[in-house]
Amino acid sequence: MKRIAVFPGSFDPFTLGHESIVRRALDLFDEIIIAVGKNSTKANLFTVEQRSNWIKAVFANEPRVKVEWYEGLTITYCKSQNARYILRGLRTSADFGFERGIAQVNKAMDNSIETIFILALPEHSAISSTIIRDIIKNGGNAAPFVPKEVNLK
Ligand code: ADP
Repeated sequence: MKRIAVFPGSFDPFTLGHESIVRRALDLFDEIIIAVGKNSTKANLFTVEQRSNWIKAVFANEPRVKVEWYEGLTITYCKSQNARYILRGLRTSADFGFERGIAQVNKAMDNSIETIFILALPEHSAISSTIIRDIIKNGGNAAPFVPKEVNLK
């Protein structure tokens, strides 16, 4: 059976930290679906289409990475894609506290789906989409923190 992982997130926008998690996870899974969430309670700066198109450009040469959007429960979406794994990145202990709750509730709702965590590289631990949105809103240059395909101009 193919090992399919869903990497869910807002990706508003996709950063070097996100890219690193996906590339490192390709060693573990046959296919990774980067699932851009449409129903996040976060205020989005970029449209789902814009966010997805950037991510597709980043992985244009990687056929094992697919980019989709979804809304509703992540575990429901995983089922629809025959994915048995949820992939998440961890930067800090704050991330851990937050992610642990979501992963444990997901596991309680569907025991067949495992959440797999990959630690951020030290050089990516301070990068967040929230900080990047702040830089953009205030006219700064966020290019050093995103893949070159994510053209924020
Ligand atoms: P969400 O709104 O679901 O938190 P994000 O786009 O902020 O979506 O993050 C998606 C996933 O990527 C989360 O697991 C998050 O912890 C992880 N992540 C975010 N930034 C980084 C980073 N710089 N390095 C590694 N993982 C990261």
